[in-house]
Amino acid sequence: MRLDLSQRVAGLNHRYRADDPATLVARALADPDTGRVALVSSFGAESVVLLHMVAEVAPATPVLFVDTLMLFEETLAYQRDVAQKLGLTDVRVIRATPADLAASDPLGTLHQTSTDACCALRKTVPLEKALAGFDAWITGRKRYQAETRAHLDPFEVETEARMKINPLAHWGRAEIADYIARHDLPRHPLVARGYPSIGCAPCTSPVAAGEDSRAGRWRGQDKTECGIHFVNGRVVRPGQAGNTEKVA
Ligand code: SF4
Repeated sequence: MRLDLSQRVAGLNHRYRADDPATLVARALADPDTGRVALVSSFGAESVVLLHMVAEVAPATPVLFVDTLMLFEETLAYQRDVAQKLGLTDVRVIRATPADLAASDPLGTLHQTSTDACCALRKTVPLEKALAGFDAWITGRKRYQAETRAHLDPFEVETEARMKINPLAHWGRAEIADYIARHDLPRHPLVARGYPSIGCAPCTSPVAAGEDSRAGRWRGQDKTECGIHFVNGRVVRPGQAGNTEKVA
């Protein structure tokens, strides 16, 4: 009889917690206890690390990329370039449906009045729909990024039917930079222009020396998470439809 989700998550943490991230990714993708796994990637400042780890062992793994239609042009170009260079064969672009956009944000200005509602419309709802067929998803979250992530485990229960895999949970900036340099991986062009964390263009600003790496995300607001992971400390369970386009 198959173990329930929390038992499987506990077992995976027990078996792989001490692994380096690349080994953990390889073992997680091969372990029947994870089931159907997708990598969710923003193709942001540090995304190339996980994309490379996955491409090295299973390049046909589905990669879900949420295009909010508010991203920097540089991110869209980088997404195409990295997918091609790493040989990822199943990158899927996830977007809100035209009907949902027309109903909730016809002028594309919702982010000016409610960033939570805009993130739900453009990120959380479409991603939730796209994740419906998966048992687990790989995220790039790291403990150092936010207080809400300080106790992150490599494997965690997300819903009653799905887990999250956080291979980089215990890595810091130095390990990320070292991995990128060691494998000579392409960097997002905005990193060199002062963006250590990259989201949507209207909600991301450059970071000054000495500032937290995520200080440029929703600058001036209390908001620190887009809602894909947390809203008010809880994972969002939206029920609206989304739109998926396979691009590679
Ligand atoms: S980051 Fe800003 S523009 Fe992007 S979905 Fe959230 S509120 Fe909207």
